[in-house]
Amino acid sequence: MNRLLAGKKALILGVADKHSIAWGIAQAMHDQGASLAFTYQEEPKGRLERNVRKLVATLGNPEDFLLFPCDVTDDSTIDALFRVIRSEWKGLDTLVHCIAFADRDDLNKPFSQISRAGYKLAMEVSAYSLNVLARAAAPLMDERGGGSIIALTYNAVEKAVPGYNAMAAAKAALEVGVRYLAVELGLSKIRVNAISAGPVRTLSASAVKGLSALRRWTEEVSPLRENVTLADVGNTAVYLASDLSRMVTGNVIYVDSGTHVLAAQVGAVEHRQQ
Ligand code: NAP
Repeated sequence: MNRLLAGKKALILGVADKHSIAWGIAQAMHDQGASLAFTYQEEPKGRLERNVRKLVATLGNPEDFLLFPCDVTDDSTIDALFRVIRSEWKGLDTLVHCIAFADRDDLNKPFSQISRAGYKLAMEVSAYSLNVLARAAAPLMDERGGGSIIALTYNAVEKAVPGYNAMAAAKAALEVGVRYLAVELGLSKIRVNAISAGPVRTLSASAVKGLSALRRWTEEVSPLRENVTLADVGNTAVYLASDLSRMVTGNVIYVDSGTHVLAAQVGAVEHRQQ
């Protein structure tokens, strides 16, 4: 069996259920021999810790995995998380940021009508969180002589995708963060990249109105004529976490069946028809 991540320690944020992109990444990294730590949001804001525990148990002995609460809008939970990671693991090789949130209202409203509070919230949870987590992870990655930070984005950044609104602004900021952090942390051999995934049915994605149309369109006209799976995204994350991507940093890697090279997006067509 290939063990591209044997000996690597990876912290994965953003597993909500078995459909989560973070879960696809966790499975792929586990298959390649990584030791894994997970986070969950505590109730009432977050979904059940119990669900994440049950999922993690499907990977093997639950005692082999670390599991901590973390709300990226609360610095005290981030400090506590990295304190425990330091005491348990001493260092960290990979951080996977699979976190995003916007009020459903602010996704569905016209862009010009997004509320001030909604715009700030989407930015804080979905983009600024990468700064805070990278700041906390860097000293632990230093202990290991470098590391890999991986964030998840969506290409509503270069092209306008109606229905993505507040989250599109947050993803643009996240991608800027990937480039600036790559420059700053490169001196410590910490690489920072984003995976831009095609549309996947997840809890968060259910808030995006045109998701089914985007998936249909991907099947019908994308270069590869197929929707991406959790495993497709997971395998790219394995590459980015592994030494195979030793000199790869500051990139947005598209795992989207090639959709990003097309001139038109389905969203624009649907929009014209409204
Ligand atoms: P998901 O399963 O719903 O995962 C989103 C995660 O973000 C959940 O675990 C959620 O926790 C967590 N989260 C939200 N607010 C948080 C906070 N304040 N602190 C800590 N965690 C918080 O959806 P997903 O689609 O897999 O999303 C993962 C990433 O992939 C996101 O960045 C998303 O934008 C990106 N992405 C998704 C698609 C797609 O089509 N699905 C495409 C491209 C990129 P709770 O469950 O506890 O709220």
